[in-house]
This record gives sequence, C-alpha cells and structure tokens, in this order.
Amino acid sequence: METSGQQFIAGKRRSGTSGEQYAVTNPATGEVLVTETLAGAEDVDEAVAAARAAFAEWSRATPAERSEAMLRWADQLDARAEELARVESVNAGKPIRLTEGFDVPGTIDNVRFFAGAARNLEGRGSAEYSAEHTSTIRREPIGVIGSIAPWNYPLQMAAWKVLPAVAAGNTIVLKPSELTSLTSVLFAEAAQEAGIPDGVINIVTGTGPVAGQALVTHPDVAMVSFTGSTAVGRQVAAQAAGSVKRVHLELGGKAPFVVFDDADLEAAARGAVAGALINAGQDCTAATRAYVQRPLHEAFVARVAVLMDDVRLGPLDDPATDMGSLISLKQRDKVAAMVEAARRAGATVVCGGRAADGAFAGGAYYEPTLITDAAQDSAIVQQEIFGPVLVALPFDTDDEALRLANDTPYGLAASAWTSNVFRAGRASREIQAGCVWINDHIPIISEMPHGGYKASGFGKDMSAYSFDEYTNIKHVMSEITGEQHKPWHDVIFTSR
Ligand code: NAD
Repeated sequence: METSGQQFIAGKRRSGTSGEQYAVTNPATGEVLVTETLAGAEDVDEAVAAARAAFAEWSRATPAERSEAMLRWADQLDARAEELARVESVNAGKPIRLTEGFDVPGTIDNVRFFAGAARNLEGRGSAEYSAEHTSTIRREPIGVIGSIAPWNYPLQMAAWKVLPAVAAGNTIVLKPSELTSLTSVLFAEAAQEAGIPDGVINIVTGTGPVAGQALVTHPDVAMVSFTGSTAVGRQVAAQAAGSVKRVHLELGGKAPFVVFDDADLEAAARGAVAGALINAGQDCTAATRAYVQRPLHEAFVARVAVLMDDVRLGPLDDPATDMGSLISLKQRDKVAAMVEAARRAGATVVCGGRAADGAFAGGAYYEPTLITDAAQDSAIVQQEIFGPVLVALPFDTDDEALRLANDTPYGLAASAWTSNVFRAGRASREIQAGCVWINDHIPIISEMPHGGYKASGFGKDMSAYSFDEYTNIKHVMSEITGEQHKPWHDVIFTSR
C-alpha cells in the first residue's frame, strides 16, 4: 500500500511542512498506517498557486477534452479499484463489503457521470428580448475552488467536491480530514495518470484550524465548498464572508424515518436497520429518528431489535462483516456518552448501548443500538449522533408525524413508509428536507442532487444541479442591427 506523501500539489506527492507530525490509523485496530507531517499555510499557498496557474489552460479546454480526460480517469480508478477499496476500508474503519460495493463503485460512477455532464454544460439559451439585441448566456468556471471534506466517506466526499468543479473548468484545492486523507491522494494521482494536467487537482492534508482556515481565507480562492458539521460550517461561512466568497455548505443531518400504519412492516424494519447502521451510522442522511404509527410501534421495535442483534461486527477485511468500527475512540466515546445521557434521562435502551468488547476491545466498535421512550426535545432526538443508534417513538395522527419529522434544526434527508400514494405524496411535500425517500432510505444516484434545507446547509452535490454552484452565469448582450437606431447614449443624454 503506497500511503506516504499525503499532500498532492502541482502533480507531486509529498509531505507537509507545518512541522506537526500526524499518525493516520486504522480505527478498527489502532494500527498506525502512516505518519506524516501535516500541511501548513505555506503548503496551502503553494497548492492555490498551482491551481491558479493551471486554471488558464483547464478552463479553456473544450468540454470534449475535459470529458475525455475524465473518462480516462474513471478507467484508471477501475484499474485501482481493489487498492482504493482496501485503503478506504482500513483508513475509515469500513468493512470491505461496503467499500467494494458502495464507496468505490459510487465514486467511479460519479466520475463517468460528470465526464458526460461536462459536455452538456450550457446556459439556458439565447433570445432576442429587445428589437436591436441578442442576449446570450455564458456559463463560466469561477476559478480556484477551496473544498473541505469530512472523514465519513473520504473517497466519495472527495469525488463530490472535485468532480463538478473540474468538469465545469475550475481548478481545485481539496482539504480532506487529516484522519482520512489516503484515498483522496490516490484519487488525485489517478487523475494525473489519466492526463489531467498538474495543478488542476491539489490535495492539502492538514487540520481544520490551520490548513482549512488558510484555504477559506485565501485571497486567490474564489469559492469555498464545505462538507462537515453545522458548527464548523457556520465558522467557515463567517470566515468566507470576509472576502465575499461564494459558499456551498453541506452540513449535518438528523433524518426522520416515518412509518405509517399501512406500511410493509418487514420492509420498514429492514430499511431502518440498513438506514441507521450504514457506515456504522456515520452518515449525514442516516435514519436516526423512527416515528412509527402506534398500531405498528411495538412490532417494529421488536423486529428491529432482532435484526440489529443479527448484524455482524468483525474484522474489516472479512467479507462477512456487516458493520465496522467508528472513526476513532473519541467518536465511540462521544456516542457512548450520548446514549448514557439518554438512559439517565429515562429512555429505554432496547438493544446495544455499549462499546463492543472481547475481540473488538482495541478498536472503536460500538454495538447497534435501539432506543425507545426518549423525549422529543431530548438531545438523543434533536442532535446528530453519528453512530449506530436509532431512536423509535410512536405517533397517532399523520399531522403529528409530519410535525415531529420537521421538529429539528436539520433538513437533509427523510423517508416515509406507506402503501398509500396520497400519504406518500403529502409526506414528500411537507417534510422539509433535500431528499425524501418513499419506502426506502439511503440510496443515492449520480444523476440526482444531494443537499440540505435549514441547518443542513445549501447548494447541491452530484447531478447537473451542482453546476449551479461551480459556475458563474454571464449575460452577453449584443447589438445586432448595425443600423442607426436610438442607442442608449441618445436615450440618456440630450443629442448633440
Ligand atoms: P467537521 O465539521 O468536524 O470537519 C469537517 C472538515 O472541516 C474537516 O476536514 C476539518 O478538518 C475541517 N475544519 C474543522 N475546523 C475548521 C475550520 N475552522 N476552518 C476550516 N475547516 C475546518 O466534521 P467531521 O467530524 O469531519 O464530519 C462529520 C460531519 O460532517 C457531520 O456533521 C456530518 O453530518 C457532516 N456531513 C455532511 C454531509 C452532507 O452532505 N451534508 C456529508 C458527510 C458528512
């Protein structure tokens, strides 16, 4: 595994220059994968300068040229798929089943989608709105994009940030989380192998307060695209405001999972377990609050508990492992503290509710956990947990369910489970979230947008909608008659 050199600047892998040493570990075992010096402000300066230098050529490449390079990039990633899946697994604590089946193929599909979308990037047409002029819309790249990504899906988050930006002709400096930088560097390196010019994609691996802040406030960065927690997103937006940068924020979530009394109970229970436990619950769209109509509530809780008991924790490289570890012991302890606080406040822990012991004691494993009897205004229902924890609460009327679903500051994703088309329609209209699934929870596709309402942020990742973030719209108005009509000079000034 080639893991050293966690900066990728102007086409070269190297170590950072901040002087701060950092050990990247496998959170399932505590094993150190690589020790590196992190990026400091000078590395960010260098990466931004490289991106700026590459912009002139890349922004003027034709869509077909950019598209062809990106298709070759997808082929390179295909060739390195096994390596990417293995590295992502050990760096982020994910079972190999998830990285092979979801993270890596999802990323490569995204590359192919944006290779195609690059050739469809156009303004909304041209027209003659005045008798003497034609109007044209130009969609132009913005410049150097500064992107900041979290640790939960390192490869996919890198893809979601980099792909729409470079497909639209921008160049980019991406700061992954220092916990999980390994696959971001492999991703950028594969782009270079595919012929994407040096400097188009740069990776700086450092901490948020040092490298992240230097990127957000850099005068040559034209736009900041951030995925992470709402608390840090708020700081990033405030810092970017100082230099009036465009900001795109993908923040936290607290997805409701509404089960109406005409739902298929078995499908809903399975969907809840998958939705709550994917990536050990460290997913911004994870199902975290199941509201179940009273006639089904008891049976739902019983079935989910059985299914959760069946989930196999295990070594990451075992294909039979369903759920891996959390990202760190610190994250595991945070989840444990939230569950403890809920228990103390009177909630019932139906299953799980503790760190996994025995063979897993050295890693950041936490048992799949189901909680009932929690108050709607309690922290376990209102705050993001980012662990394998589902809360189930009963409701009586549809009005109540939809009110509860909307009763957190977040609005990223939600699901409604019903066999009644009208209930489904009402839920999809009234739930305030960027995505509402009907009779499913979690699937994503490259063609469709992902992004939040409310405190979950604004702007879209994936899909052609993401180009609205990464392009400027320019109106070009041309005089087309060439005749002596009344020019604006004559309208405004007395003719002489
Ligand atoms: P985080 O907010 O702690 O960190 C995210 C990134 O911001 C990291 O790279 C970090 O180094 C950087 N950062 C921290 N402080 C900074 C600062 N002052 N200036 C600039 N950068 C700074 O989040 P995390 O713990 O890495 O990830 C988990 C969070 O990400 C959760 O809240 C989750 O919901 C969210 N998330 C959201 C989406 C989405 O699409 N909405 C997707 C994945 C994760």
